[in-house]
Amino acid sequence: MSKLAPVWSKVTDLEVTHGKGSWVFTTDGEEYLDFAAGIAVVSTGHSHPKVVEAISTQAGRFIHAQVNTYRHDLLEPLAEKLDTITPPSINSFFYSNSGAEITEASVKLAKQATQRPNIIVFNGSFHGRTHLTMAMTTSKTIYRAGHAPLPAGIFPAAFPDLSGVPADKHDWVVDHCLELLDYLLKSQTAPEETAAMILEPVLGEGGYIPAPARFIEGVVERCRAHGILFIADEVQSGFGRTGKMFAVEHYNIEPDIICMAKGIASGFPFSALGARADLTAKWPPGSHGGTYGGNPIGCAAALATIDILTAPGFLDNVNARGEQLREGLHSINQDHGGFTDIRGLGLMNGVQFEQPARVAAIIKHALTESRVILMNAGTYGNVIRFMPPLVVTADEIDTVLGAIRSAMKATA
Ligand code: PLP
Repeated sequence: MSKLAPVWSKVTDLEVTHGKGSWVFTTDGEEYLDFAAGIAVVSTGHSHPKVVEAISTQAGRFIHAQVNTYRHDLLEPLAEKLDTITPPSINSFFYSNSGAEITEASVKLAKQATQRPNIIVFNGSFHGRTHLTMAMTTSKTIYRAGHAPLPAGIFPAAFPDLSGVPADKHDWVVDHCLELLDYLLKSQTAPEETAAMILEPVLGEGGYIPAPARFIEGVVERCRAHGILFIADEVQSGFGRTGKMFAVEHYNIEPDIICMAKGIASGFPFSALGARADLTAKWPPGSHGGTYGGNPIGCAAALATIDILTAPGFLDNVNARGEQLREGLHSINQDHGGFTDIRGLGLMNGVQFEQPARVAAIIKHALTESRVILMNAGTYGNVIRFMPPLVVTADEIDTVLGAIRSAMKATA
């Protein structure tokens, strides 16, 4: 009988000993191709030698150098580095440990900077599992059920999911969602009471759905018109995942605040908030913080990760492998049918099905017959998402396509 709390849901029953690149190795001597990558975390692959070296070296210097007590010598270099890779609007940084902590921090900053109480989120969102971030999360009821009451002041708005919508109706759906956003600002949270709108440029847990450009640009336009801040939650979509350093770069927008975690430090628990410096200047010293934020090993891991991700040609591989994957998925769909949508950017891709049961069967088949680890996504659990390490090779993509092809046949 396990002494572990049963609250963690299980994607597999595997017990692993170690990982390397896109692979993990189990206690029973098997190897698995890891297309879950720790839920889009191990951006540089499992235990990339440069990240391991940076972590080991830093562990010998300082494991914990608490930021309120003294400043260690990687805090500023990491902020300088983040400044070079984040959008031009972002030039001041705060560190924490997880995605939820950083999205919650972004809301605290937005409230302080605007002196307004409310936040608009979008349907399909996932921002974390603390009480505030649960209230901001709308992708599935399981994340919230049984935890009420949740904090007030969070207003969900419509998100245009265009899967299954004929191309000539896309603009209509987007315009309708923007009209509903205007209606929300008239009917429930007045602009002068709204601190921020927070959006994942590519919905993650909500189903790997890139926001339509007209929509995200319309959202930012409304923010600008009303003095509302725009927060990009790039916890899952950031750090090269979509083939650009940040997903917002696919759009003609600049965020006021950007939330970063997951891929930032190749798996070491670390997160960062980037914001306009005039906003962080309004965050009174002591009004936010944390014991571990800015941990020196996390900073070392993040610096090493960013060096790897910004090496010439790195993102070219992300884009090429993403195209290879999507092309392969289209070809499988031509032969077998069954996908109701194939979508994604870079290496953040999903295929949608009518039935969640088929998704579960395909994931199980890929695991047991092809030793490939996959996960689902979406409110209905009817999306298979592909989020391999960004160092994935062409052969590894082919292996996964082979696994999907045979699972499609076996589950037809
Ligand atoms: N924001 C987004 C977009 C996420 O995908 C996640 C996690 O999946 C979070 C926030 C929360 O991150 P964490 O699990 O590190 O708290």
